[in-house]
Amino acid sequence: MSSVKCQVKAKALELLVATKNKKKLEEIKEILKGLDLKITSLADYQDMPEIVEDGETFAQNAVKKAATIALFTKKLVMGEDSGLEVGILRNRPGVYSARYSGPSATDKKNNLKLLRELKGVPASKRKARYQCAAALADGKRLIGVVTGNCSGVIGEKPRGSFGFGYDPLFVVEKYDKTFAELGPDIKHKMSHRYKALKKLRGLMAVYLKRSRRPS
Ligand code: IMP
Repeated sequence: MSSVKCQVKAKALELLVATKNKKKLEEIKEILKGLDLKITSLADYQDMPEIVEDGETFAQNAVKKAATIALFTKKLVMGEDSGLEVGILRNRPGVYSARYSGPSATDKKNNLKLLRELKGVPASKRKARYQCAAALADGKRLIGVVTGNCSGVIGEKPRGSFGFGYDPLFVVEKYDKTFAELGPDIKHKMSHRYKALKKLRGLMAVYLKRSRRPS
């Protein structure tokens, strides 16, 4: 008698990304494409705890986002914190990148403020770096923290319409184009977020293997 093999595909594990930023979430989904995960975000849930981003580093904020939401939901959670550091501004806006132009900040207002602060500064002194930290936690523990960065120069005026945040001002020297001109195909192969999430994929692969092992 022939035996019938029955293969049941394991349900994709949920990864809740602790962000409300739609553009950032889109990039994270694109970069993590191919992993057997169902990616959700804070926009999919109601009554989540407020997260006050009061860390002095991107890593501290990323851990706080991941740990707060993981402890509350008991799910696998990724916290991501990122921003722009401009050398001549002593690494400002840094962890304050999202709120650089004040409480009612928008990407446009932030970019205008950055251009004002760099008025008259020559190209050779407009070096900048995007930073990204990503933390992974579940209801029981912090699984790990990874980082990535990407260097560029702040342009004299906004160029391009892809991406978000400071992308229209962030010139990648190799191409002499901003991330907003280059678009996702190039940005997602070299960005701070891509570099951090490439490392996170490694952490996640080990985690998924362990969580699927029969106990
Ligand atoms: P967060 O949500 O507190 O991590 O804020 C990140 C902020 O840093 C964003 O609102 C942007 O202003 C800036 N930022 C981070 N990553 C990027 C990027 O990939 N492109 C453009 N701006 C970014």
